[in-house]
Amino acid sequence: MDEIITQIKKAQHLLLASHCDPDGDAISSLLAMGLALDKLNKKVTLYNASPIPAVYRFLPAVERIVRHTEKAATYDAALILDCGHVSRVGEAYSVVSQIPVIINIDHHITNNRFGHIQLIDPDASSTAEIVYRLIKALNAPINKAIATSIYTGILTDTGSFRFSNTNQAAFAISQEMVQNGVKPYNVAQHVFGTYSLGRIKLLNLALDSIEISDNGKLSVMTLTNAMFEETGTQPEDVDGIINYARRIEDVKVAALIQEQKNGGTNSDKLRNFHVSLRSDGTVDVAAIAGAFGGGGHSNAAGFQVEMSMAKLKSEIITLSNDL
Ligand code: AMP
Ligand code: MN
Ligand code: MN
Repeated sequence: MDEIITQIKKAQHLLLASHCDPDGDAISSLLAMGLALDKLNKKVTLYNASPIPAVYRFLPAVERIVRHTEKAATYDAALILDCGHVSRVGEAYSVVSQIPVIINIDHHITNNRFGHIQLIDPDASSTAEIVYRLIKALNAPINKAIATSIYTGILTDTGSFRFSNTNQAAFAISQEMVQNGVKPYNVAQHVFGTYSLGRIKLLNLALDSIEISDNGKLSVMTLTNAMFEETGTQPEDVDGIINYARRIEDVKVAALIQEQKNGGTNSDKLRNFHVSLRSDGTVDVAAIAGAFGGGGHSNAAGFQVEMSMAKLKSEIITLSNDL
């Protein structure tokens, strides 16, 4: 922590980045850290490779997040947030890699400790929780805008205080953020209260696609590009859908296979997929994702793969033999 504070104080212009296809924690950590560094009169660039999902566009200063970077020499330091591997920042990966001081702030158990300085806590509920600690250590004030981001990051990464990463700090920090002016109902309405019709129709297709292994311990959902087209939805609309597959009685591991936009159309061909994994708490899905080159947390993990749909589904169903 001390070394990070020294480097932040020394830096004039910092590049802040979080993982592509961002979730609430990735966006909130980026905004909270950026707004806090503003208060310390730092020049900050907030970067994310992907568009901001509609449900997070209410966050204060969200328009500050850009999808391009200057050349590496522009920045004195980079703060990489909520990324288990530096490549998770997406397109800016090569620029980020050349920045002289790379600070890795994360809570993924599979974090590979990239960068020059690490602040990694797998016991933290969210990266937003670690960002909160860092802001406090920097003696930066927490205003309503910063509080709204920190609260949103904790709320979304804990699945509304339901997932196993929900800890004492999640509640304590959230309470402090509410004291700083956050309106929980307002945040909840934005994040969970309003869905496009397409998103509901996508949920319908996802539920309809559920398959269960013979022993009943593994469930698989499948979302193809055709389904996104039919419902006019985007990958951001998938957020949370896997939890339905996870909730099924006796299921220990749920998988959601999601075709990627560049995935091709011929079902026999190799296609690109993102696979999300969730566990009921008795299985370490970060280890399973790791075996496929991905990572995450013990109860929520993911990986990318190029394979035929039939082979991928059969490899996933085969995992049920070990459950
Ligand atoms: P998701 O499956 O996208 O909902 O992600 C679940 C968790 O796994 C999140 O904490 C992600 O950061 C992590 N994760 C997802 N995909 C990958 C990947 N390709 N490599 C490393 N971690 C991942
Ligand atoms: Mn994340
Ligand atoms: Mn996170």
